[in-house]
Amino acid sequence: MSRSLPLGAPVVHLFIADLRLHDHAALHAGLAQALAEGRPWLALWLPPPAQPTPWGWPRTGARRLAWWHSAAHGLAQGLARHGHPLWCLPDGTTATLQAWISACSPAAVHVLEVPAPEERAVLQTLVAWGIPVHRHGIGTLHEAADLPFTPEAVPTVFTAFRQAVERAHTPVPGPLPVPTRWPAAWQPAENIADRLGWRCLDPQAPDDTALLAGDARHALPWPPADEAPWGGEAAALRHLQRYLDGGHARRYKATRNHLADPWGSSHWSLWLATGALSPRQALAALRAHEAAHGATDGTYWLWFELLWRDHFRWLHRRFGAALYRARGLAPHAPPRPLDPQRLARWMQGETGCDIVDAGMRELAASGYLSNRMRQIVASYWLHELQGDWRVGAAWFEAQLLDHDPCSNTGNWLYIAGLGTDPRGGRRFDPRKQAAQHDPDGAYRRRWLAPDTRP
Ligand SMILES: Cc1cc2nc3c(=O)[nH]c(=O)nc-3n(C[C@H](O)[C@H](O)[C@H](O)COP(=O)(O)OP(=O)(O)OC[C@H]3O[C@@H](n4cnc5c(N)ncnc54)[C@H](O)[C@@H]3O)c2cc1C
Repeated sequence: MSRSLPLGAPVVHLFIADLRLHDHAALHAGLAQALAEGRPWLALWLPPPAQPTPWGWPRTGARRLAWWHSAAHGLAQGLARHGHPLWCLPDGTTATLQAWISACSPAAVHVLEVPAPEERAVLQTLVAWGIPVHRHGIGTLHEAADLPFTPEAVPTVFTAFRQAVERAHTPVPGPLPVPTRWPAAWQPAENIADRLGWRCLDPQAPDDTALLAGDARHALPWPPADEAPWGGEAAALRHLQRYLDGGHARRYKATRNHLADPWGSSHWSLWLATGALSPRQALAALRAHEAAHGATDGTYWLWFELLWRDHFRWLHRRFGAALYRARGLAPHAPPRPLDPQRLARWMQGETGCDIVDAGMRELAASGYLSNRMRQIVASYWLHELQGDWRVGAAWFEAQLLDHDPCSNTGNWLYIAGLGTDPRGGRRFDPRKQAAQHDPDGAYRRRWLAPDTRP
């Protein structure tokens, strides 16, 4: 695609999973370029994919879509304070990208990269068309250059990764402030938005809180209704502080396996997934809490878990699309033919295994599951029902509010024994798990009792 650069060609920030203004190196860099070159600036959001999966459900379910829109409205509010609208692309197809490029001929595109194949493909398309694409990290705590290994040699086993990072004492950069200097906003030619199907997000659009929190059985620490948009960065930062001020991080190691405890784990994943919360911001707040109140095994363990998140991102950077094969990184794996009835029973929570059914109903009704329940239901799909990991992961993708391609794929491969872990998969015995984590059956009763909602 050949292109000439008009005078008013904007510098673009392509928001993908970084819907915030705080701690945003890519944002700072793009704004600085626009200011230095006297160019307008354009904020463009690429929403999560909407197309159907091969198994018939949409890639992004209605609740997760509502969550992303809530996060995007939060971003739109923040941008509006600096005189900028947030434009929304209809999708990430080549045709849409082509129309975008010919409409505004960007001088450059800045992104915080999601190191998963589909998101990378969008950027590769832009590069192939000659657009200068500036990538600013992959949303991890450390920068690649600060790690004690190259990204190509990232340790494949988590413990080795964590130990190397901890031994190196590499400091995590502190979070950046919200930018203070903003260039002029890019002005679209008349009718162009209509012609391209673009729209500007309405910063005042209400949250769909009925969809997000409508099922009273959920165990999510939702903010009060007047703190909408719940998905926005302001709500994310308030939740972060509330969690720490409540002393929950101090107890985290003891409570993280609770199955239905809104404060048993941090729930930072909800905002980390959309990027409304930066992991460095979360870590900085955790460290400040430790400095004020002392470290505990709970606060240490939260850091440990954030390193799991990073590990899956670095593994994506290293292995890329190979992770998404049916056999993952294994040399071979026997094919697992799909039994649609088994799949339907698992998705609907009708397997006959009570702890699994409770979990699958919670997932479908609330868009969230504790880590322990994710392990139990994923193991059941893989090891009892002999399902293909990609189908299970796709159902999680559609349902989970906090879906993150790297963490989701990484965890599924780990339990399936098709990732980089040498121990060959994890089977969680549902009976033992229920006895250990739901000894009085309260969790199962909560989700298996007949649904009495009107
Ligand atoms: C099959 C399966 C699928 C999963 N899919 C996702 C997903 O799509 N998105 C997602 O964010 N997490 C996923 N996880 C990881 C984990 O279950 C969630 O991160 C966690 O339950 C989120 O709740 P929290 O924020 O309260 O976590 P906490 O327990 O409070 O942990 C703090 C943070 O550490 C990170 N973290 C914790 N555990 C893990 C882990 N096992 N892997 C990677 N990061 C971790 C998350 O960013 C989390 O927010 C999955 C786990 C399994 C077993």
